[in-house]
Amino acid sequence: MKFVRLVKGHFTAFEYKLVFICCAYHLALININHFPKIMAFTVIAEVFGKLHIKNGDKLFNVEYFFKAQACKFISHKNTSLPEFISIIADFTLNFNSRNGIINSEILKGGKFMYTVLAISCHPDDMEINCAGTLLRCKERGDRVVVCHVANGNMGHMEIMPEELGAMRIGEAKRSGDSVGFETVTCDVGDLLVSAASKEQHDKIVEVIRKYQPDFIITHGPDDYMGDHVEVSKLVFAASFAASVPHYEPQLGDAAAVTPIFYMENSGLLNCDPTEYVDITDHIETKLKMLSMHESQITWLGDHDGNDVLENTRMFARVRGIQCGVKYAEGFRQCNVDHRNTTKRLLP
Ligand SMILES: [Zn+2]
Repeated sequence: MKFVRLVKGHFTAFEYKLVFICCAYHLALININHFPKIMAFTVIAEVFGKLHIKNGDKLFNVEYFFKAQACKFISHKNTSLPEFISIIADFTLNFNSRNGIINSEILKGGKFMYTVLAISCHPDDMEINCAGTLLRCKERGDRVVVCHVANGNMGHMEIMPEELGAMRIGEAKRSGDSVGFETVTCDVGDLLVSAASKEQHDKIVEVIRKYQPDFIITHGPDDYMGDHVEVSKLVFAASFAASVPHYEPQLGDAAAVTPIFYMENSGLLNCDPTEYVDITDHIETKLKMLSMHESQITWLGDHDGNDVLENTRMFARVRGIQCGVKYAEGFRQCNVDHRNTTKRLLP
């Protein structure tokens, strides 16, 4: 119990592991002595019930989590001690980074909560390509942050760039606000996005360090137009740079190197998914969000000759057919070293 007194306010990963070892030890002893498993869970719940994890300005009581776990394991009578300890270990590993302070997966009402950062090029790309998935993330308790790199100021036949840029940032914010997503913009002019720009790179480093995502969604490196491709390159480079503590330290505390998921390319071309997300229950909300980008509904019709709302529904239907549901979104994971995980992060 001395470990309990050790931690006030927030506690480090090392301290957290000590507490876990203590609990696992109690659990092992109880099992050796053939006590019912419920006793072990009660001990853990009591120990952790006295702890509060601080995350930012929020406090989380972990007692709820362990009670939920106890109910779960009691309902699965074949769960062995090694299995239980492996789950505890997995739980512990989720708290082992970020400068020793727990701010990765946090507990809320017995659920894990991820921070997902979607970095798209134009203010409507998120809705077209991954809004359904982000809605499901939000539904499961994730924090959803959407960053637009470009301001979309060239996307109209008549409205001039300065006016349009401000208009489109507003459209994106209204769409995000309507479902509880946080929105941020790097405010780069259309057709000026460049992976060679240190200024743009560092803006994205700053966003990643500020929000400390558990995973990132962005454009594929082989999408249909230059600005999208440049965003993909910027995110790939910046998300690594963000993890290096001595790189521009004034931009914030170092972040973890996280998995990156590439959302659909325009027209579903050159992007066979490696993962699908069922968005059947969210397709109408996704399209409603897209329709809030009023300036773009006319622009995409004028410039590309298509109905973006109809196309977006059709593309989701195609992905749905491929994975056996009504509507879906597809993703490819960026398959490079240090960015893979054993966990399914997408909902
Ligand atoms: Zn775009």
